[in-house]
Amino acid sequence: MMVIPMDVRLDKAIDEIRVRQASTVGLQMPEGLKVRARSMAAELEEATGCQVIIMGDPCYGACDLRTFDGVELLVHVGHAPMPDIVPKMPTIFLEVPMDFDIVQGLEDNGSRLSSRVGLVATVQHLHLLPIAVKTLESMGRHVRIGKGDARTAAPGQVLGCNITSALAVKDDVEQYIFLGSGYFHPLAVSLGTDLPVLAMDPYRGAVKDIGDEKEKIVRQRYAAIAKAQNADDWLVLICDKPGQRRLSAAYRCRDMIRLSCRKADIVLMNEIRAEALLPYRAQAAVSTACPRLAIDDGPHYPIPLLTPWEMEMALGLRDMSDYRLDQILEGDTPGNVG
Ligand code: SF4
Repeated sequence: MMVIPMDVRLDKAIDEIRVRQASTVGLQMPEGLKVRARSMAAELEEATGCQVIIMGDPCYGACDLRTFDGVELLVHVGHAPMPDIVPKMPTIFLEVPMDFDIVQGLEDNGSRLSSRVGLVATVQHLHLLPIAVKTLESMGRHVRIGKGDARTAAPGQVLGCNITSALAVKDDVEQYIFLGSGYFHPLAVSLGTDLPVLAMDPYRGAVKDIGDEKEKIVRQRYAAIAKAQNADDWLVLICDKPGQRRLSAAYRCRDMIRLSCRKADIVLMNEIRAEALLPYRAQAAVSTACPRLAIDDGPHYPIPLLTPWEMEMALGLRDMSDYRLDQILEGDTPGNVG
């Protein structure tokens, strides 16, 4: 699968800076694009005369809009806006569409495709969905693209914490096809729907059923839940990033733990890290922040780190056979001013 290099079009940002006559502009992007940050800053400064401050902290999504006193406009690159988040300052989103040859990829893997498929993608590849539909239909497949909730910007888009677009068509499909790189997103679809997911990865050039990865993660999650069952002393973690700030979930978790006659305190952090938990000497933690923290990084924590649903399983409030993906849904982060 050939990947066409990404093209970051700064025209939209340049126009916005000029219209707003912004003299100080913040520039924020995910790690994978930061290699281009300084050249983008130079281009913006040269075209508009503004000064640019590059937001250097890690950024994993539009859930994490950075602000800084004196910055008049934030240029956020690489993610689509989350319609249910209100930016604290004027913010312009520059998506970075990326092409790859999905027609060939689909045609080469015809024997692995079910007859009724759901299509999902990350924001970089959403523009390829119509071509994928056309190709799949010409191969005789029935194709569905679902509309997600207000945390997603377009039909078919999935986030690592929100697969509502996939769930919207779950009853009509036997398999999902995911367009995008890595396991982060297709794993969410697989965990959250329990249906097979075929991931078309433009970087690896591979079309992969991620069933094995899912099974490995499920085993890890059940091991963490089992370990947490005996914990009497818990931390409830809440994150200050605007699109991860689930305060009511944190209170609910704390109350459920206390009601089960165990100790629990809420700890607020902006960047949740394993070593930051050590001083509290707790035996388990539940994270109301990005769900992927527990799922992807959990095994590296010194104590079991669970999602709220997993915590309920550990406390005996949920059937152990009913595993659910923790999602952040529209309305879960009220007052989420970024
Ligand atoms: S909460 Fe996590 S998965 Fe969701 S958008 Fe933010 S970084 Fe991505």
